Amino acid sequence: MLEGICYLVGAGPGDPLLLTLKGRHCLERADVVVYDYLCNPELLKWAPVDAEKLYVGKKAGAHTMRQEDIDALLISKTQAGKTVARLKGGDPFVFGRGGEEAEALAAAGCRFEIVPGVSSAIAGPAYAGIPVTHRKHTSMFTIFTGHEDPTKPDPSLDYKVLATSPGTKVMLMGIERLRSITARLREEGMPAETPVALVRWASTGYQKTLVGTVTNIAEKAEEVSFEAPAVAVFGEVVNLREPLNWFESLPLFGKRIAVTRTQSQAGELVASLRELGADAYEMPTIRIEPAPDKREFYELVAYAHTYEWLIFTSPNGVDAFFKAFYELYKDARSLGGVRIAVIGPATAERVRSNRFEIDLIPEKHIAGEIVPALQKETTIDNLKVLLVRGEKARDELPKELSRLGAIVDEALAYRTLPESADSLGIARYRREGADMVTFTSASTAENFHALELPTDKNVSFASIGPITSKAMRSLEMPVALEAKSHDIPGLIQAIVGFYKK
Ligand code: SAH
Repeated sequence: MLEGICYLVGAGPGDPLLLTLKGRHCLERADVVVYDYLCNPELLKWAPVDAEKLYVGKKAGAHTMRQEDIDALLISKTQAGKTVARLKGGDPFVFGRGGEEAEALAAAGCRFEIVPGVSSAIAGPAYAGIPVTHRKHTSMFTIFTGHEDPTKPDPSLDYKVLATSPGTKVMLMGIERLRSITARLREEGMPAETPVALVRWASTGYQKTLVGTVTNIAEKAEEVSFEAPAVAVFGEVVNLREPLNWFESLPLFGKRIAVTRTQSQAGELVASLRELGADAYEMPTIRIEPAPDKREFYELVAYAHTYEWLIFTSPNGVDAFFKAFYELYKDARSLGGVRIAVIGPATAERVRSNRFEIDLIPEKHIAGEIVPALQKETTIDNLKVLLVRGEKARDELPKELSRLGAIVDEALAYRTLPESADSLGIARYRREGADMVTFTSASTAENFHALELPTDKNVSFASIGPITSKAMRSLEMPVALEAKSHDIPGLIQAIVGFYKK
């Protein structure tokens, strides 16, 4: 039988990009993923779709599974020959009970490996612009747990040492006990003016930072109901924050943006919005399915070289077309001398990535612009055109071309269907809402509307272009902004502009 293995993998503090390459490597190979509260569930996307994914919880006060049971689960899966990825927030050996899990695996004779992660103890301060060490200020730092009640007899932490030793102190857990812990540190001699920063949900779009001193931080935290999970940083380095506060100064920091797209396409927009600091999440409302009539589609693709013009109206159409084309032909020259027209830069980019040049791209990225642009190039009467498009796409373009005498065939490359309502992003939208929802096609707007989700009146709807906006208005969804350039970079630019005001 195959020998199993359990990887204890540090998931990093929250931003999914802070998972290590080795961590991802383990996830990609996992038969079973065991994860808990502090791991970003988005990391599960790296695991194979058919991997077993087990949530074992652990939010303070709401333990889903006892530690012994988690240990037993890891052992039994590993002994059954599985590759197990045990995802733990931050680093597995920094207050994550990773040491206990490793001991249990070792005692049971299971193979295991440790994959260190980016601990919140360092990433938390870093994302608040606080270096834990600095040549001019401190050359040591201490990480301690605030899990323990400092008023109980014989606490295992030496508060006197914590209060009086030099260097930065970083506390994990214990935000609930901040008052008693800071009081104790003061009693034991920590200077009253010692700067303190609390960083909650560090490295995510909903990070919050609160700054004070050891004397007043507990009161400040209570005033704003500052809650776990958070790290607390004690020391002079907190004062360095102002010019170094890079993350919270990003243009979209703190904005919660739901991106409605198909599962396969949401990634690019979400990733760019996050780079700008937004708490962006995918909300797939539509899903791309292959051509409704595959045989007919392949037949049209096979004869593409017999047309004078090939028109692509969307990146999905290009993908479906070339997938079929290269299944049918080995040689790119099989496309012959057909000329290529596209709508929109994203569509053009996909064509070029297949090593074909674009002969025509209208300045405005809307279907209605294709006809006048073509007319400048050629006479449309008797022109043989193959239009590659989605099943539900508007049919004004083929109608207009036919009216002008063109011989138009339509290759229906794909169909868009509403995404099932129970997906992760939709659940999140129901729970937390959003400051903004983005729409990148009329069908995303239509499908979003069809989901009948509750919409807060403060939510702003962003549109990629006039056709999408028109669909939105017809559904009584007010358009807060419309991109000037009707593509993803254009939409991002418009969103940044919107929040600058
Ligand atoms: N192994 C983890 C720590 C687990 S203990 C690590 O290395 O980060 C759980 C504590 O970690 C929380 O109570 C909180 O203090 C801290 N923590 C984890 N993720 C955090 C985050 N994104 N922001 C702030 N604190 C976090």
